[in-house]
Amino acid sequence: MTKYNTNTICVQGGYSPKNGESRVVPIVQSTTFKYETSQNMGDLFDLKESGYFYTRLANPTNDAVANKITQLEGGVAGILTSSGQAANFYAILNIVKAGDHVISSSAIYGGTYNLIANTMKNLGIEATFVEPDISLEELRTKFKENTKLVFGETLSNPSLKVLDIEKFATAAHEHGVPLIVDNTFPTPIFCRPFEWGADIVTHSTTKYMNGSANSVGGVVVDSGNFNWEDYKSKYPGLTSPDPTYHGTVYTESFGKAAYITKMTTTLMRDLGSIPSPQNSFYLGIGLETLHLRMERHFENALKIARFLEVNDKISWVSFSGLEKDDQYNLAQKYLPNGSSGVISFGVKGGRQAAIKFMDSLKLAAIVTHVADTRTCVLHPASTTHRQMNDSELLAAGVSPDLIRMSVGIEYVEDIIEDIEQALDEI
Ligand SMILES: *Cc1c(COP(=O)(O)O)cnc(C)c1O
Repeated sequence: MTKYNTNTICVQGGYSPKNGESRVVPIVQSTTFKYETSQNMGDLFDLKESGYFYTRLANPTNDAVANKITQLEGGVAGILTSSGQAANFYAILNIVKAGDHVISSSAIYGGTYNLIANTMKNLGIEATFVEPDISLEELRTKFKENTKLVFGETLSNPSLKVLDIEKFATAAHEHGVPLIVDNTFPTPIFCRPFEWGADIVTHSTTKYMNGSANSVGGVVVDSGNFNWEDYKSKYPGLTSPDPTYHGTVYTESFGKAAYITKMTTTLMRDLGSIPSPQNSFYLGIGLETLHLRMERHFENALKIARFLEVNDKISWVSFSGLEKDDQYNLAQKYLPNGSSGVISFGVKGGRQAAIKFMDSLKLAAIVTHVADTRTCVLHPASTTHRQMNDSELLAAGVSPDLIRMSVGIEYVEDIIEDIEQALDEI
């Protein structure tokens, strides 16, 4: 499949039915799998044979969908998780432990920020946050002896900053650590971070990949490019015998699949954040139209951003597809065909005007979500960030008038008309 265009992989990747088998990926809604002999099953537990025995560790539906996403990203192995949060947690925890240090872009999703800044800190993992526009020289100074990875988001949620993947990958590789990139917003339709030097990619599949907002999920994909063996002492979990798996050395036994195999056999075994096969089925269906939806999301969002840009009730618009946007040049490099359908903007009149505008919308719904087929809006100052006063909001990079609009794939003129009538109400 990898020789095909991503559009073709969206439709047919990950699953090739044999003679007489189901054309559509079947939902294998079973926790367990039957074997003829104890020896058969023992070989699976010893990782001598590949096969299914318990859905927490592997399931055919989950595998088919993980394979499709792995092909879309151009990776060698991937694993689905029960949420995007679990994906980022596993991607990091797979190679760090108490006493280690990570470097992260500060322009990341709030949940991921909390994970790295607080929960991981409580586990003894220290973090340094850097602004995404940090110079390469300064970035180099942030590495320590115990730094194990660098983390960022291709297009950050909600601040919409484009990550200079090459810059972060260069610094990471100079210091012998991998770059992990959360590629949720652009999806592999608009950016394939491995092509720019990222080593591992994660997603909240809850967003565009599922696309219809019917199930929470995540994925981790490994490019297979980072050579753990070159930094043996830094990544003992991958390069030395695992006593909990008969002394398996993952890099020796599984080569380029070492990172994902270890994630399955240790983190999934011990922490267990697997998706239900039913949810993976929905994700697989969503992926079949990802290429069509992403194009329309971006096309609609660009039209709306251009409409807002010249409207005299709007104070500012942030969308990397606009020539005037401060992210435009980076977007031209990393996201030349589109970025996502998410726009943020401010209405003149501040917090009160923003609330009035939002409450007057009829087609666009107020929801805590982004990146599905239906246009939706969120006013962080009165919802997700409502405990902060105006000066605290500004310090957090969220202005009181900020509205985040996730543009859907409805007929764009209908969305614009809805925005127009709501602006008239201010
Ligand atoms: C939503 C989101 C997450 C968290 O994903 P869940 O599926 O909600 O757990 C992580 N990263 C980004 C960029 C997101 O947008």
